[in-house]
Order: sequence, then structure tokens, then C-alpha cells
Amino acid sequence: LPVVAIVGRPNVGKSTLVNRIIGRREAVVEDVPGVTRDRVSYPASWIGRRFMVTDTGGWEPDAKGLQQSISAQAEFAMRTADLIVLVVDATVGATSTDEAVARTLRRAKTPVLLAANKVDSERAEADAAVLWSLGLGEPHMISASHGRGTADLLDTILEALPETPRERYVAGGPRRVALVGKPNVGKSSLLNRLAGEERSVVDNVAGTTVDPVDEVIELDGEPWQFVDTAGLRRKVRTATGHEYYASLRTRAALESAELALLLIDASETISEQDLRVLSMIIDSGRALVVVFNKWDLVDEDRRYDLDKEIDRELARVPWARRINISAETGRSVTKLVPAMEQALDSWDRRVPTGRLNNWLKEVIAATPPPVRGGRQPRVMFATQAATRPPTFVLFTTGFLEAGYRRFIERRLREEFGFDGSPVRVNVRVRD
Ligand code: GDP
Repeated sequence: LPVVAIVGRPNVGKSTLVNRIIGRREAVVEDVPGVTRDRVSYPASWIGRRFMVTDTGGWEPDAKGLQQSISAQAEFAMRTADLIVLVVDATVGATSTDEAVARTLRRAKTPVLLAANKVDSERAEADAAVLWSLGLGEPHMISASHGRGTADLLDTILEALPETPRERYVAGGPRRVALVGKPNVGKSSLLNRLAGEERSVVDNVAGTTVDPVDEVIELDGEPWQFVDTAGLRRKVRTATGHEYYASLRTRAALESAELALLLIDASETISEQDLRVLSMIIDSGRALVVVFNKWDLVDEDRRYDLDKEIDRELARVPWARRINISAETGRSVTKLVPAMEQALDSWDRRVPTGRLNNWLKEVIAATPPPVRGGRQPRVMFATQAATRPPTFVLFTTGFLEAGYRRFIERRLREEFGFDGSPVRVNVRVRD
């Protein structure tokens, strides 16, 4: 999806604007101490078009000073976003920091919009007019907290946003993994274990664009990009709003990943929270490896219970490999990479049309689709319309029941082996 980056000085209202755009009233970001520290992406949509919004807030002024840190923010947005919105506080006017950022942004090849925030009255509109001086075109006057002008700004964003997002990942670059799971399942511990084990963390891989919040770790001689790990590294922990924030973050991580590593605490009952993360993974269509962590705490009794829980709760993903590890002791951590490779291999796999149809003819001859309304639907032809994940389309003369589609999916898996990846079977009825 195309990415819209929101940049600007602290307290100009970036987070409020982000919350407006993603359709949430209260500020989830600035209100929660510690949470603004990382750059975060959120899925958003406006008049049916979907995009990601990146809040570059929280690049707290460090030793290098506010100006430099904001410039770094702008540079980063220029490298990674498809459109940049610079937010300025119209009640303050253009500060020297705003001017410095504007200077940087004027070089951008990416479209840049200027949002003059905190314009709550007509008098304030007159003040905002001086922001033309920033050389970024018309100041779009908004009040992020009241919602004034934000619909117009969104219209303008959509007009200026390129149809296709820029190429962020070079083909042949590291595979992208989202390490997800509820708090305290051991995500940070596993990341540290993986990074520590090989002692060969690389910041950047030649020819690829790696987000600063991502981490590239070499495993079995290959680089793997763990997306959005900043929160795991810095142990961002807060009570208020944390769950909502964490779920947005999980969605965003899945959006930029190819594979989900779902961590579940094997020593505890599989919970609602685990299942919510699982649902997000299923919705995302990503490849999946389920990792049961804290295996060192699992005894015979727990193991027995866990087996039952798995039958009940993970029935939706019978195709996902399950691996039992201990991030603490390092047990079986080496089994992860082969499972991840297999899952991605399935996710990328394409079945040639000829082979698919020869196979399908036999399956259908042996088990024809059930008769509906006195008619026997005929399956005329199938094709694999997409990979990542594999998506098949059956062209038929009538509707196929969900049960029969599942049957086809099961047989497809048996024949072509898509372990670790979802498989979609769609039907197109031709009259
Ligand atoms: P995160 O919130 O998912 O990043 O979880 P953490 O990595 O912070 O781990 C939460 C707690 O579980 C910490 O106290 C870890 O030491 C502990 N922990 C993580 N992995 C294991 C494990 O394999 N076995 C045991 N016994 N404890 C673990």
C-alpha cells in the first residue's frame, strides 16, 4: 500500500492528525508515555482507497538537537514514503526548525503537502497565510482536534498520492518476517536469541531499503529482515491503550511482512488474545509458522492439555507448521529457519496451468461437485491467478458450495504441498 508520512516538530498535532486519518478520536499515541518513541504505521482508508499512515513523531530531540532529529525524520520520510505531510502549528507560525525541514523537503521527489494545524477560527486563517513563505505551496488549514478541514486535506492527499507505491523492497532482498504474539510470550527474548546466536547482525544489506525499525539478522547464512522490532528492542511497555496500540502495530507489521512467526506461550492456556493475533494473520494472507515458546516450563500434564487446546483453537490453520522452542534455553531454535523457508516457498509457489488442469480433471471425475437446484455444476477450467499466497480460480457453470471448495483446497494441498501458506480457492461462475 502507498505510504503517507506525517512529519513535523513535537506538539504541532501530528498524532492528533494521524488519529483523525485512521478514524480514532482520542490520541492513542501522544497520550501514552513511551509509546511515541517509535515510528509507527497504521492502515487507513478514505473514500474507498487504502493506504498506510506513518507517524514519524517521537524522534525525541536527542543530543544532536531538535533540528537535526527533525531533519533526519524528513530525510527518512523522503526515502520511504509516497507522500509527505509537513504539519506546522499555525498559531506559532514558521519557526526556524520548520524552515529547516521545509528546506529539506523542497528537494523531495515525493509530493509534499503543508498542513497548517490549530486553525480553529477565521482569524487563525489569516495567520496561517504567512506559511506560504515555507515554499511548499498552499498551507492546508486544518484543526486536527476538531476535524476542521481534515476531509479536504484527505481529498488532496488522495489526489497527490501515486497509484502504485514505490518499490520498497528489492526482489532477492532479505525475506521479511513479522514476529507477533501477545505481550510477554517471549518475542524480545527470541529476537535476542536469534541475533545473539549468530553474532552477525547487519544493519543494512546492500541494495535494499531497510526501515530503521527493522532488523536484519543473518540466520543459516541468509539475511532475514524482522520488521518493526524497535518496540521489542526498547521494551516499550505501557498500560493505557497498550492493547489497541499493539494490535495496530501487529497489523502494520503483517502488512509489510511476508511471513508471520506467531509466538504462543506453551506454559499457559491459549487465550483470546492469542486468537485475535491469529485472526489478524489469517486476514493478512501471510505465510505462517506457529511457535510454542517457554517449552522448558511444559510438563506432561500441560502437554496433554496443550494438545487438546491446539486441536480446538488452531483448527483454522491445520497447514501451519508448529515448532516447540525455548527462547530462554535455546532449545530447538534452529528448527525455525527451515520451517520459515518452507512456508515462504509454499507462499511463492506457482502450479503450471496444464498440470493443474490435468490433476483437477481426475479429482472432479472421482468426486463431482454436489448437485444444486437440480443442476450439476461443471468445473471447466482452473488457473492459479496469484501467488503470495497461492490463489486459484475455478471457472464453473454453477455455484460451488463452501464444503466442496474446502475439499478442493485439501486435495490441492495433498497434491502440490502448500505447507505453511494459506491457499485461496475462488469460483467464477460463467453463464
Ligand atoms: P515479549 O513481550 O513477547 O517481547 O516477551 P519477553 O521476551 O519480554 O519475555 C517475557 C518474559 O518471559 C521474560 O521474563 C522472559 O525472560 C520470559 N521468557 C521468554 N522466553 C522464555 C522461555 O523460553 N522460557 C521461560 N521460562 N521464560 C521465557
